[in-house]
Amino acid sequence: MNKEDSKNQGRPFGFDTRMLHAGHIPDATTGARAVPIYQTTSYVFDSADYAAQLFDLKQYGNIYTRINNPTTAVFEERMASLEEGAGSVATASGMAAQLTTMMTLLEPGDEVVASQHLYGGTRTQFVHTFRKLGVTARFVDPDDFDAWEAAITPRTKVLYGETIGNPQGSVLDMERLAALGRANYLPLVVDNTFATPYLCRPLTFGANIVIHSATKFIGGHGNSIAGVIVESGEFDYSHYGTVSSPSPSYHGLRFYDTFGHHAFLMKARVETLRDTGACLSPFNAFLLIQGLETLSLRMDRHVQNAMAVAAFLEEHPKVDWVAYPGLESSPYHTLANKYLPQGPGSVFSFGLSGEGEAVRAKGKIFIEALDLFSHLANVGDARSLVIHPASTTHQQLSDEELAASGIAPGMIRLSVGLETKKDLLWDLDQALHAI
Ligand code: PLP
Repeated sequence: MNKEDSKNQGRPFGFDTRMLHAGHIPDATTGARAVPIYQTTSYVFDSADYAAQLFDLKQYGNIYTRINNPTTAVFEERMASLEEGAGSVATASGMAAQLTTMMTLLEPGDEVVASQHLYGGTRTQFVHTFRKLGVTARFVDPDDFDAWEAAITPRTKVLYGETIGNPQGSVLDMERLAALGRANYLPLVVDNTFATPYLCRPLTFGANIVIHSATKFIGGHGNSIAGVIVESGEFDYSHYGTVSSPSPSYHGLRFYDTFGHHAFLMKARVETLRDTGACLSPFNAFLLIQGLETLSLRMDRHVQNAMAVAAFLEEHPKVDWVAYPGLESSPYHTLANKYLPQGPGSVFSFGLSGEGEAVRAKGKIFIEALDLFSHLANVGDARSLVIHPASTTHQQLSDEELAASGIAPGMIRLSVGLETKKDLLWDLDQALHAI
């Protein structure tokens, strides 16, 4: 049940229905209602001819779990349906989703223009691992469209940004960026991790590919590392080198001529995933499916709690600033209303008042005094989480890169969970008093 078949006799199913049913019907043999975990590496071929057809991509079917798996396929179809895409490919992690996307689209010498408001690990991957692959990333202020345009060269092949920038809480003007992409024949890739398809569907605003760290709100319970790539199927790859030209690893097969609007995803699966091996485990796919079944309910509560926490912090005398796009004081409030009308998620940052070493010390006392908020490197868990980005997630960045990424030394990042609202406010209040 994806973009084409998410309609029942012309009647579209709602988001919540698709969260529970897309991509799966009860098992025909056993009647099992929940999605079974097909914990198998491989699949018996009906005949030698059938096996040959599968390997030659003349027939689509299960070959080996590094390439496809029936449990993972349910997760993939469900994500494609929720993001309103043509299809999807699941990966071992969010980092693998990014790398799989880029290795499918790019070749040595190519360039990517990316927002500088990115998860620190993404920036590190784009600078250091890309360099080993002969690819260059140029980073720009996501709000500066002259800078996006100026950074595009004849070697540019991709535009890249995050729906809600980590951890600055900036909202990407993706409709405008998609228009720039179309004018320059560049696919726009958006990391939709912080929003989830419940709060924002970038493909409906003109993005071509959406990726997720499914480790976060998609799984929702902090128990599995995972990623996923969803594609709109609308980008015309007919003159796009890597996807249109003959593939040496498939006897000169041309993916775009052969698979049309599924070309990018087919190439990502049968070439990149086949060769990098960064596939999702079926057991983790099962856990992600459990997470998806309650996505909208959880996200509504995450947003309600985040709004209450942000408003509380904004009024607190020991807090200097709060960067939550749900607040009217945020410079991204208008963009948030446009792209995230049901709320801008629950991951945001705030700054303690003070400067330099003194504010770093305050940050440490605050984090250690918290009781309910867990101090760890993750977001999007059902539980509330806290971290100090400058010394952890963004530690590999130089001082200049930190400044360019908008990370202040006293910045604290919260991922507001699903606990009782007044308990969260109590915990923050008592930790602020401890300073
Ligand atoms: N994208 C964003 C916005 C993230 O926050 C993260 C991880 O924190 C990633 C990508 C990488 O995902 P993973 O940790 O699943 O590899």
